[in-house]
Amino acid sequence: MSEPVDPSKVRAEAVVDLGAIRHNVAALRARAATAQLMTVVKADAYGHGMIPVARAAREAGADWIGAAVLDEALALREAGDTGPIFCWLTTPGEPLEQAIAAGIDLSASAPWEIDEIAAGVDDRPARVHLKIDTGMSRGGAVPEDWPDLIRAALAEVRTGRIEIAGVWSHLASSDEPKSPVNEYQVATFTSAVDVVESFGIDPGLRHLANSGGTLALPETHFDLVRPGIATYGLSPFGHEVPGEEFGLRPAMTLHARFAMVKRVPAGVGVSYGLTWTAPKPSTLGLVPLGYGDGLPRHASNGAPVQVAGERRTIVGRICMDQCVVNLEDDQAAAGDEVVLFGPGVDGEPTADDWADAAGTISYEIVTRLGARVPRRYVGGR
Ligand SMILES: *Cc1c(COP(=O)(O)O)cnc(C)c1O
Repeated sequence: MSEPVDPSKVRAEAVVDLGAIRHNVAALRARAATAQLMTVVKADAYGHGMIPVARAAREAGADWIGAAVLDEALALREAGDTGPIFCWLTTPGEPLEQAIAAGIDLSASAPWEIDEIAAGVDDRPARVHLKIDTGMSRGGAVPEDWPDLIRAALAEVRTGRIEIAGVWSHLASSDEPKSPVNEYQVATFTSAVDVVESFGIDPGLRHLANSGGTLALPETHFDLVRPGIATYGLSPFGHEVPGEEFGLRPAMTLHARFAMVKRVPAGVGVSYGLTWTAPKPSTLGLVPLGYGDGLPRHASNGAPVQVAGERRTIVGRICMDQCVVNLEDDQAAAGDEVVLFGPGVDGEPTADDWADAAGTISYEIVTRLGARVPRRYVGGR
């Protein structure tokens, strides 16, 4: 699957455990046993690599693959995925006819989207999921506009150009399972489905849940769940409820090798702006990764790493290509391994630790990892 590499010689790499992906997909299926499962692989599978992840997810029984944008969905088909694929974010003028010809399910939130989809139909009808805005105010028809969307869809069902394959929405606050917003969204969703049925239409697959809903809100499962982040073994709840409580296994480990190690005297400043000063004679390790690789610059002066089993800290600003670790009085040499984050089972920091250091969420830590960092796959079949 990937080029043979000698891990002891790489600058840096993200190791992605496809066994963990399969394990997590199976755990999510068990969690929402009465629903179908859509594995969300948008944004290059949250930085893990879309095609290998989609393949592993199918092996573990994912009924659907979910992609945000059209290029992602088409790339899945080109890679040979023949199963159900749903793509939900298109803009006017995009080549919907390609998606329809490729048998990709599309979403519509407004009558003009129904028109665009219908115009892209050749010999096979387009499968459309109608989106209701249940309170997040992102995509979806607001409840006042919902009947107009249904009428537009119904007109094209009658021409034979579209089939209504589903009714769906998205949760705004499932990372706070106790928030009353969840209950409100379920109620709004249920009424929207009732309206569809009142037109004499079968709503098809009803779907609402992301990872938070899949893991913590069974009343959001309906016919299909769409977990993303949990597939990668990360918890939508961050440190509050770690993924291991749901039996999830983080799939990605980011590690590098020091480009240089040196001893500096007390009082020297480190990296741009010299924002950190060595309080005593210190050993510094130069990590050949920076914000150009996707490390968050906000994690300067504080992000954790692991070196030879010890927790160490990034000092000074994270640069475009490099950053500096305070190795204190450790014995270390250029070429030694530094683990930035991983599953956390051997004491290494996790993506959540990095998220805390950068004031963000684990989603952003893994998803932003750039194309300059090679991915190496283990645990493949
Ligand atoms: C990203 C996304 C998901 C998955 O969300 P997670 O919180 O990562 O589980 C599901 N549905 C839609 C529409 C999304 O945009």
